[in-house]
Amino acid sequence: MSIWNKKEIKTKKQILKHDIEVDTLIIGAGMTGMTTAYYLKDKKNVCVVDASKIGHGVTLNTTAKINYFQEKIYTKIMKSRDKNTAIKYLKSQRYAINLIKNIIKKENIECDFKRVPSYVFASTSNEIEDLKKEVNFLLEQKIKVKEKKLPLNIKSYESYCVNDTYIFNPIKYLQGIYDIIKNNIPVYENTKIVKIDKLWTHYNCYTNDHKIKAKNVVIACHYPYFTIPFYLPIKSYIEKSYIIISKTDNDLGFTCINTSSPTYSCRFYDDGNNIYQISLSENHNTAFKQNDEYHFKKVKETFNLKGSDILMKYTNVDIMTPDNLPFIGKLKPNMYIASGYNTWGMTNSILASRIISDIIQNKQNRYQDMFDPTRFNISNIKQLPYILFSQTKSFIGPKINKNKYWYNDNVYFEKKDGKNVAIYKDKKGIEHIVYNKCPHLGCSLIFNKIEKTWDCPCHSSRFNLDGKCIKGPSIYDITYKK
Ligand SMILES: Cc1cc2nc3c(=O)[nH]c(=O)nc-3n(C[C@H](O)[C@H](O)[C@H](O)COP(=O)(O)OP(=O)(O)OC[C@H]3O[C@@H](n4cnc5c(N)ncnc54)[C@H](O)[C@@H]3O)c2cc1C
Repeated sequence: MSIWNKKEIKTKKQILKHDIEVDTLIIGAGMTGMTTAYYLKDKKNVCVVDASKIGHGVTLNTTAKINYFQEKIYTKIMKSRDKNTAIKYLKSQRYAINLIKNIIKKENIECDFKRVPSYVFASTSNEIEDLKKEVNFLLEQKIKVKEKKLPLNIKSYESYCVNDTYIFNPIKYLQGIYDIIKNNIPVYENTKIVKIDKLWTHYNCYTNDHKIKAKNVVIACHYPYFTIPFYLPIKSYIEKSYIIISKTDNDLGFTCINTSSPTYSCRFYDDGNNIYQISLSENHNTAFKQNDEYHFKKVKETFNLKGSDILMKYTNVDIMTPDNLPFIGKLKPNMYIASGYNTWGMTNSILASRIISDIIQNKQNRYQDMFDPTRFNISNIKQLPYILFSQTKSFIGPKINKNKYWYNDNVYFEKKDGKNVAIYKDKKGIEHIVYNKCPHLGCSLIFNKIEKTWDCPCHSSRFNLDGKCIKGPSIYDITYKK
């Protein structure tokens, strides 16, 4: 369920049917993988694979604001790193906005790309000081930020806005990119990479049935399982947010976000027939709060949404990094990664695509050192206790404390053949039985009552009612077999 996939992306529906050899393999066909393919479109022998369908990962449930006024990110970076890094991050985000603008304009991609003002506001009086710090930083960098009243019926104190930011429909954008690259670059859907071996001259990447021999590998699959040496589990945590799509009469034509957690964020989308308000809030580390129904209720109350106008409810997750900068670049010789976008993946995926495609083509990119994915700095050390605590809590918590909310919804737990299983009984009384353990690192799964999925609180793998893996890092299903 998503506001963006009312129309499926039309593709050739290619599936890998035999072993192949390529120069560059891109794993993941979301914003990152597809835009990287776009930048490599004139190179020979590139291919993209996706475990699911194009754009059906985190990109499907994004709110798709293309924005550099990102709550109080510059103040956070000044704290976690230094002022120069914050300035460089600002430049990188504006550079990324220009890159996506140029692609859409040059290629004439119809994706409802629209310039709109973006507001950042203080939702409590405590946030005012932080907001002012952020605004002063931007003014110092000669960004035109104006104080302006937030045009939304939501509790706000001060608010500021910039005008050179954008919104779009990411699935229409990916359709446009696919149409441009499809004759040169095969995109194999429903093709999951389950293993990568490094050899002297190349990588062997395996699906369940075939092998792809590749000189370069780009890991663009959001949370990769096959890069443990990169220590992502101890360098990041997962943040979950709750999104409600409602019908509205007016396209108020702006985006907004506040400066603290929980985030209150909103934008509008006019698909030509109807106008929708996309409201998001209640973001939290997946290790801690687990009552989806309660969080959706809070989003509805925060944005004063009428029940009758609500069309869809869904959750989404992104990877958060200790120093608020993404991980983009070279992981090992000829292996590249793009991850940890801290919920600002529209700009950062474009930036990652440009940086990685530049490195592959032996071009220098001015931002490549800044996002070095192998970095381990003082922010990592400072946040390590928090990350380890949340990982431990999400590992042990559900094992010993079965969440009381689960039991109200026909979900229960048993041992079958000596293994822990979870059972969901649907309205017709049919039992859907799954193993209650994430195949990634063994965390117990939590039932998502609203979306009817089994979610891993540790690293965000998701499974449907019958145990099919619908989001990594797990590469295996949890279907119970008698
Ligand atoms: C609630 C929410 C709202 C957001 N709103 C915004 C916003 O307004 N603006 C903004 O800038 N950012 C936003 N973001 C962030 C942004 O949506 C994401 O960072 C971005 O979409 C990530 O894109 P991606 O291509 O890296 O990952 P994905 O879109 O997840 O793509 C990864 C792909 O890899 C595939 N894959 C995974 N494992 C394998 C495997 N083993 N083999 C093959 N394929 C595999 C998946 O199927 C998937 O299609 C938001 C995030 C959240 C959580």
